[in-house]
Amino acid sequence: MRFSKLMVKTYKESPKEAEAINHKLMLRASMIKQISRGNYTYLPLGLKVIKKIENIIREEMNNAGANEILMPIMQPSDLWIESGRFNDYGPELMRFKDRNSRDFVLGPTHEEVSVSVFRDMITSYKDLPLNMYQIQTKFRDEMRPRFGLMRGREFIMKDAYSYHLTKESLDEEYENMKNTYIRIFNRCGLNFRPVEADTGSIGGAESHEFMVLASAGEDDILYSNVSDYAANVEKAKSIIDLEQAIEDKKTIELVNTPDIKTIDELSKFLNIDKKKLVKSVLLKANIKNETKYFMAVVRGDLDVNEIKVKNAFKLSVELEMVESHELEGLGIEKGFMGPVKDLNKDVKVVIDESVKYLYNFVIGANKKDYHYINTNLEDIRYDEVADIRVAKEGDISPDNKGTLEIARGIEVGHIFKLGYKYSEAMNAKVLDENGRLQTVIMGCYGIGVSRIAAAAIEQNNDENGMIWPKNIAPFTVDVIATNINDDKIYKASEKIYEELLKENVDVIFDDRKEKAGFKFKDADLIGIPIKVIVGKNIKDGLVELKSRKSNEVLEVKVENVFDEVS
Ligand code: ATP
Ligand code: MG
Ligand code: MG
Ligand code: MG
Repeated sequence: MRFSKLMVKTYKESPKEAEAINHKLMLRASMIKQISRGNYTYLPLGLKVIKKIENIIREEMNNAGANEILMPIMQPSDLWIESGRFNDYGPELMRFKDRNSRDFVLGPTHEEVSVSVFRDMITSYKDLPLNMYQIQTKFRDEMRPRFGLMRGREFIMKDAYSYHLTKESLDEEYENMKNTYIRIFNRCGLNFRPVEADTGSIGGAESHEFMVLASAGEDDILYSNVSDYAANVEKAKSIIDLEQAIEDKKTIELVNTPDIKTIDELSKFLNIDKKKLVKSVLLKANIKNETKYFMAVVRGDLDVNEIKVKNAFKLSVELEMVESHELEGLGIEKGFMGPVKDLNKDVKVVIDESVKYLYNFVIGANKKDYHYINTNLEDIRYDEVADIRVAKEGDISPDNKGTLEIARGIEVGHIFKLGYKYSEAMNAKVLDENGRLQTVIMGCYGIGVSRIAAAAIEQNNDENGMIWPKNIAPFTVDVIATNINDDKIYKASEKIYEELLKENVDVIFDDRKEKAGFKFKDADLIGIPIKVIVGKNIKDGLVELKSRKSNEVLEVKVENVFDEVS
């Protein structure tokens, strides 16, 4: 490509709306053009980056044995009704009707379509395991589209879906995908960490997010300063010193409330707003061969099952639910818990420091017709209640190796053991060895293609512009003719350019009628890794190579340029 032909404009300033560095720089280098909120045209420089990322992903996915397909963006709502997500997905799902008033959606993700392809085509265990993937535009009507390509309403994703007869086979493919993702993000030149992620309502499933470490990230991750342990804060665990927790105990009284059966009656009896009532769950855990009881207190409208409670409280122990008391009412975001002592005595329970914000609450009971109340009222601090049991910076890592540190992360990939959620709802079955129909078990694996471009800039930039990792740079080499009116310089530059092209170097030739300084500025802003500067020394057969990243300058002979840049 010759610069003189390139559809590009560079700007000194970016529009005020752009907050994030990646957004500012992409606009300044005209890599993207906003069309509406969270909705962009990729201009040539931006598109080249996207295509390079896509190709890395494609190569690695193909090598990993996945099949590339392309599913439609437009999806009939019938499939979403079948999976149950037509109602569950919420306002991020873009819906529309065709001319016959049939409901459609614009795919935010493709589990439904993938399952429908699978179940029509695959009937035998012999065809399993199977992994299908695509690189496709997705639509999510994000509440806050922002930071340019980082959170678009329309964006490019690589999504893959795997199908298995057994859990072991899924485990194997999950590992395969995890390693594939590590290779992909390494090739993209990103500084990232795979982190354990919350699996939400699907219990027992495993999930990892791939986080690019950058201050513009919207997620917090906790990681060990010694080992490989890393997790999204929502999922992070730490070693809790239970003995200490029990020492820091606070007691609350159990009041007998035999006549009270409903939340309204309780609210009236205690003269406390219903919204401040929550429900309690009694849990049992085996810690160091000793049975300990915990009382969890959660928002009244949450679905308290064992897994959810486990997820909500991040204790690094397995918890078994003993009983749950259904009290309705809101008041806290997630809930919290504390150890319960003297379970057999009705009158007192011991709770730890983490429950100190309970003071204003009546917290249900672990015994029929009893409710705990604490009369020692203090300010309710709703804001702090929500993450009271979440592992924190400075805690001991759950593998007991080092302490936890906190960092901001950009989620560029997410892999997930889906289990039977979609295959069951949508009836995806195959015949097993014994001729019996079996529901298949699934995994899914996403990468934010366009988000990678944004994340790479967040991680690699300076006051002059972007500093692209070589493998995803819009061009790898910029041959700069410092003065095109000097025939020697122009001819030599053009020759170097053509030779590099022949060697398949992704090179651009700055043949514009501009001053050298202007060209350098553009090259820096766009972040091209290597400049080949053709100036006066060409008379001695010498040019300068300058690294965008290190600013190092190397004087080389023209005939060595290819060796040096490759
Ligand atoms: P987020 O937490 O950032 O909203 P998500 O968890 O909703 O992302 P997934 O459903 O896991 O996203 O989708 C797979 C990948 O697609 C994400 O890991 C991310 O890299 C990318 N992605 C998701 N939403 C967007 C978006 N609005 N714009 C750009 N990329 C996105
Ligand atoms: Mg999201
Ligand atoms: Mg997420
Ligand atoms: Mg995700």
